[in-house]
Amino acid sequence: MTKKALVTGITGQDGAYLAQLLLAQGYEVHGLARRSSTSDVNLSRLQWLGIADQVKIVDGNLLDLSGLIRTMRDVEPDEVYNLAAQSFVRSSWQQPILTGQVTGIGVANMLEAVRLIRPEARFYQASSSEMYGLVQEPVQSETTPFYPRSPYAVAKLYGHWLTVNYRESFGLHASSGILFNHESPLRGIEFVTRKVTDAVARIKLGLQNELRLGNIDAKRDWGHSKDYVRAMWLMLQQETPDDYVVATGRTSTVREMCQIAFDHVGLEMDKYLVIDPAFFRPAEVDILLGDPGKAKAAFGWEPTITLEAMIREMVDADLARLKPRG
Ligand code: NDP
Ligand code: GDP
Repeated sequence: MTKKALVTGITGQDGAYLAQLLLAQGYEVHGLARRSSTSDVNLSRLQWLGIADQVKIVDGNLLDLSGLIRTMRDVEPDEVYNLAAQSFVRSSWQQPILTGQVTGIGVANMLEAVRLIRPEARFYQASSSEMYGLVQEPVQSETTPFYPRSPYAVAKLYGHWLTVNYRESFGLHASSGILFNHESPLRGIEFVTRKVTDAVARIKLGLQNELRLGNIDAKRDWGHSKDYVRAMWLMLQQETPDDYVVATGRTSTVREMCQIAFDHVGLEMDKYLVIDPAFFRPAEVDILLGDPGKAKAAFGWEPTITLEAMIREMVDADLARLKPRG
């Protein structure tokens, strides 16, 4: 029997890589996408991976419980991956209510739809290392206390605990992946890695002459989306649902990450990098560093792509996107 997966956030970075992995495993993949008045559903990431015509797109929104219930009834998924969110930390101070509704209450809507219509389905919730925020331990694991530092992180914490609660209350096979930052050529342009690789490519091609960043002393544990979606899938293949940290166990500053990008194209970083307080945040997460030991012990997950290899891949992809064709 072909397994069926329902993926929310199918138009996002992780949605694209997860769909690619699931299709390769022989799944029928259904992706929830919201419509907009200006364009058809944006399938550019799925197109980039060459899989847009293999995913069945379902019209829907995390805010619309009745639609989610209908989708659950129509698709009858075996596995549900809830990746949709207002996912950009900085925007969450601009739109705290919307972030709470989509990133927080949206999880309640998904869990209710599963519980009411498809309680046998396995459920994955996209939780975040941002929940650790003002870190309470130097290396963060599943037992580290949380201290969220943005409306985004507060909303994610609600979604995380609700997933745990529905598992404990109703016996759902619901797992929460506490994923540290992960990037790729398909990362949104507003996130710092992609902002840097896009700018470095533009500077190299003479299309831009500076790169303006905020806090370059912030440290992140950066991995590759392709590795991280494999961990999501592995979590749902386990007999027992649980929560897992997914991280590389190495932390680097924004400045160090930037240096890799500039070095790759042979440009001197200090000539182009400008610190702009406009990009500072009302509250910062200074450092994140995860311990993926539990995921490794449970199902042998390990990252395979280094920060250096990933940033170089992203710069090359941005150069290719920007170079005139012909
Ligand atoms: P993206 O921002 O690339 O994708 C977010 C997705 O959510 C998009 O498909 C977006 O659709 C969709 N979406 C937003 N609002 C709604 C809504 N109201 N109804 C339905 N869909 C909606 O995120 P990533 O792929 O990078 O991340 C996937 C998930 O993992 C997110 O929940 C994120 O918060 C979480 N996460 C990500 C980490 C990372 O480093 N990437 C780290 C830890 C957690 P549209 O295209 O229409 O905007
Ligand atoms: P986040 O960890 O989910 O907030 O991912 P981001 O990629 O948006 O930010 C990672 C870190 O880079 C944060 O500590 C930011 O403050 C820092 N940073 C510094 N300059 C910038 C910038 O210009 N844009 C973004 N997005 N982040 C920046």
